[in-house]
Amino acid sequence: MNGQKTTAFLNDELNGRSIEEKLNYLTQNYPDKVIFTTSFGYEDQVITDIIFGNDFSVKVATLDTGRMFEETYKVYRSTQERYGKTIKAYFPPAEKVEKLLQEKGPFSFYESLENRKECCFIRKVIPLKRVLKGNEIWITGLRASQSDNRSEMKEFEWDEGNEIIKYNPLRNWSLEEVKDYVKKHNVPYNVLHDKGFVSIGCEPCTRAIRPGENFRAGRWWWEQNSGKECGLHESATKNSN
Ligand code: SF4
Repeated sequence: MNGQKTTAFLNDELNGRSIEEKLNYLTQNYPDKVIFTTSFGYEDQVITDIIFGNDFSVKVATLDTGRMFEETYKVYRSTQERYGKTIKAYFPPAEKVEKLLQEKGPFSFYESLENRKECCFIRKVIPLKRVLKGNEIWITGLRASQSDNRSEMKEFEWDEGNEIIKYNPLRNWSLEEVKDYVKKHNVPYNVLHDKGFVSIGCEPCTRAIRPGENFRAGRWWWEQNSGKECGLHESATKNSN
């Protein structure tokens, strides 16, 4: 079965089962091939709690762009301490970051969309390729209501660019449901959420949102109509399966 067919099969076969049942199925059928990437936001912390709390055999990784908030590193540490598990960090290629800084300086992303995408490509997309290599299932914390780009996403999607099946367990969750879970299970969370930050990325490119603004408004807030994506989830947001 090719990736598209397997994805359709999983959406059908696992429909109606709990997240725990789905993770159980995936880890049994794709041993050592299931990976979860976290950026330590609310949604990712819920998934981390489910994975570590049930001791599922899922690899957990994070992309350390080198520009993260101190608060994010703190929740990284508190999460490892809470569950007694390791979350593997992947860094961007040093020579490319050095070249970028030398040629364009440390804030090139404010100057043009092209520059911003270049920085995201070096610091996020390239390391992600290393993270996903050799895996067959990629678990994400995406929710359909996070942005218009994501509204059509399915629970299982074939990511053509990365040639991997994405599993979005929180696809239908609301932000309130996510927050309730975190509170109820006393899950460590990024304190920036208490200061109006909802979607948290790199420090220079993320701000708190104001009342009435949408979920992604605080990311690359100076851009208009750019889609507010960093390239990690491009294929899923453009062509949902
Ligand atoms: S979010 Fe900003 S700092 Fe982070 S990789 Fe993208 S452009 Fe660079």
